[in-house]
Amino acid sequence: MSSYHFSLHSGHVKGSKMIEVYTHEFGGESSRELLLTYGILDEKDIINSGKEGSGAQQQHQLLQYKQCPACSIDNKRDAKFCSGCKMVLTYDAYADTKNEAEEAKKRLEELEAKQEILQANTASVLNVLMTAEMGINPPPVKIIAWNVNEGSEGLLKAAAIARAENEAREKEHQQKHHKQ
Ligand SMILES: [Zn+2]
Repeated sequence: MSSYHFSLHSGHVKGSKMIEVYTHEFGGESSRELLLTYGILDEKDIINSGKEGSGAQQQHQLLQYKQCPACSIDNKRDAKFCSGCKMVLTYDAYADTKNEAEEAKKRLEELEAKQEILQANTASVLNVLMTAEMGINPPPVKIIAWNVNEGSEGLLKAAAIARAENEAREKEHQQKHHKQ
C-alpha cells in the first residue's frame, strides 16, 4: 500500500504525523513483499531487516519455517532435510547427499571388483589342487593382483580381467555338463 492509497482510503491528509507513521509501516511491509515476490530479497533478508511490530513479528514467525515442497510439512528454517518425508531442503544437504551416494556407489563398485578377483583367484587355486589330486600335471596357479598405487582404476582393470576369466570358466563348466 502506497502513501497515496492510504491517504485516499483513510481520509487522512497527506503530511500529517499520523499518516507518516502508518505509511512508513505499511510502505515498508508492502515493498518488502514486492521485493520478495520478485526475488530481489529472499526471506532471510527480511528476517535480518529487523523490523519490529506485530506484522513484522508475524512474518518473522512464518519465515522461521520452511515448507517442504514435497509433503507441505513445515520444517525449521535451517532444516537440511524434511522431518516428514526426508526430502533434501537445502543445496548443501543435496550436495552432501549426492557426495555420500557417489562414495557409497564407488565403495560398492570396489567391493564387487574385489569379489570378482577373489572368485577368479580361488577358482585358479582350486583347479590346481583338483588336477594335482587327479594325478594330472597341474596348470600354473594364476593369481590376479593389482597395484594399490593405481587406486580404484587399477582395481577395476584387474576386476575386468577376473570377470572375463570367471565368465569363460562358467561357460566351460556349462559346456562340460551339456556333453555329459
Ligand atoms: Zn516433506
